Amino acid sequence: MTIAYAPQRKISSFHPPQRTLLGPGPSEINPRVLAASSLPAIGYLDPIFVDMMDELKQLLRYAYQTNNQLTFPLSGPGSVGMESCFVNMVEPGEKVVVMKNGVFGGRMVENVDRVGGKSVVIEDAWGEPCDPQKLEDTLKKNPDTKIVSFIHAETSTGAQSDAKTLAAIAHKYGAMVICDAVTSLAGTPVKTDEWDLDAVYSGSQKCLSCVPGLSPVSYNERVIEKVKLRRDKNRVQSWFMDLNLVLGYWGETTRTYHHTAPINSLFALHESLLLLKEEGLENSWARHMRHHLALKAGLEAMGLSFLVKEQYRLPQMNAVMIPESIQAREAEVRKTLLNEFNIEIGAGLGPLAGKIWRIGMMGYSSKPENVMLCLSALGSVLADMGQPVKVGEAEAAAHSAYASMHASAAQAKLRAAA
Ligand SMILES: *Cc1c(COP(=O)(O)O)cnc(C)c1O
Repeated sequence: MTIAYAPQRKISSFHPPQRTLLGPGPSEINPRVLAASSLPAIGYLDPIFVDMMDELKQLLRYAYQTNNQLTFPLSGPGSVGMESCFVNMVEPGEKVVVMKNGVFGGRMVENVDRVGGKSVVIEDAWGEPCDPQKLEDTLKKNPDTKIVSFIHAETSTGAQSDAKTLAAIAHKYGAMVICDAVTSLAGTPVKTDEWDLDAVYSGSQKCLSCVPGLSPVSYNERVIEKVKLRRDKNRVQSWFMDLNLVLGYWGETTRTYHHTAPINSLFALHESLLLLKEEGLENSWARHMRHHLALKAGLEAMGLSFLVKEQYRLPQMNAVMIPESIQAREAEVRKTLLNEFNIEIGAGLGPLAGKIWRIGMMGYSSKPENVMLCLSALGSVLADMGQPVKVGEAEAAAHSAYASMHASAAQAKLRAAA
């Protein structure tokens, strides 16, 4: 038997174009990270690889600001981190409060239901943060709640919730916390130990600017204790995700085969975490804020506004309101940006489809040349479509935002030296 080979066009090597990635992830990848990922593979039990795994765990503890021993990258995208938390921590019949203010909170509800938990959902409007008062009220009414889960940085709306306060309320009522830090980690502060987050997970392709497909997680002792009790009774439903088994490879003492680690992707993660360490976490947070403020100045000069109130706005994920006059043609704007300028920005999801654009400035994508390019390209596309945008004004506004930030940084330095 022969396998039919009738391609519509001749298949040759795949060479993607160079895009400027300003969407909700993936973000651009530093050339150092790409270089690391292209090094020759070695075995996942090779002592040299095992040493690298230990460094990876150390670097991840720094990124997460935690001393948790069990801090390591899961093989799979951010969604795997989410699923790992629920499948390991929620036993059938247990009550889980999920705070939902966008797409990803909705996925948490799905996870609870699928592992046989009982979800109690707290809704907040898309674009608003999760409301701590609602959590307090809900836990009062549901004292048997075992777990509270929420999204720290809702990528579908650009809103950040107060993880520290939500975690404190959860613990006051004896519940454990699952925190989604996929978009926040390295972009805005995530303080796992200080905030007492029991389980926190992220993704490699957002503010860590690594290749997609890895999900760094951190679990504290409370989680490990709970999961260990599930070795015999109420076994974790997923063989692949059962932490009791994964620990055999990523734990402190043993290194036994569980599944083949994504070796080259882990080389890449090591390098991207090293870049983060070299820059410094605080500097990374400050950089995301600096370029957000310049972008914001430019967008506002173009007459555009933000969905989220200023104090809840994520610097790494800008949800920009689309002017009503072009909402019907907004896909054309994104298409032109992609085809003419090689820029990817994100569309709105769910109730925000056609209402917002999502301009991500995550990790390596968060840099001045991208701010200027984005403003210049978006401005020219909008002007072409008849919007009242004066070419050059947005760029000038971003320039002066940078200038005033430089001036105040210089003054702060002088004050510190005096
Ligand atoms: C992107 C994202 C996820 C899912 O990550 P994938 O790597 O796409 O699986 C989960 N939660 C949030 C908040 C995200 O932004």
